[in-house]
Amino acid sequence: MPARTPIEIRRLKKLLPEKEVGSGLLIRLSDNSEHILNSEILRRFCPCAECQEKRGNTSHAKPLGGGGRAMLRIVKSTIDSETDLRDVFAVGQYAIGLRWDDGHDSGIFSFDYLDTLISRKDDLLNASCLN
Ligand SMILES: [Zn+2]
Repeated sequence: MPARTPIEIRRLKKLLPEKEVGSGLLIRLSDNSEHILNSEILRRFCPCAECQEKRGNTSHAKPLGGGGRAMLRIVKSTIDSETDLRDVFAVGQYAIGLRWDDGHDSGIFSFDYLDTLISRKDDLLNASCLN
């Protein structure tokens, strides 16, 4: 599969209610497709070591698993500041960083990782219903 890379990333303060709730990112990829990742998914799957530890994953290995099943951890305390996306910034030529209202900004989302989240978004959303 050819790698898709983001050509435009826009922070959304409010998503359309009929689509999803909360803030998030509108991502246009190099194949000209547009995708929305809401802030809940972005924060829950923040790839930094600190968030992974909070989620109970001490392996620090691939957050979504290598060969199949997504590893899901439910974040029980979804306080507003944890899912209030304040800023998006470029990290080199390969990734973006997100800054949250609680000050957290150490999660580096590589373009590959973003594409993985986009591809599996529906699974991740459905999984959140188990909460
Ligand atoms: Zn994090």
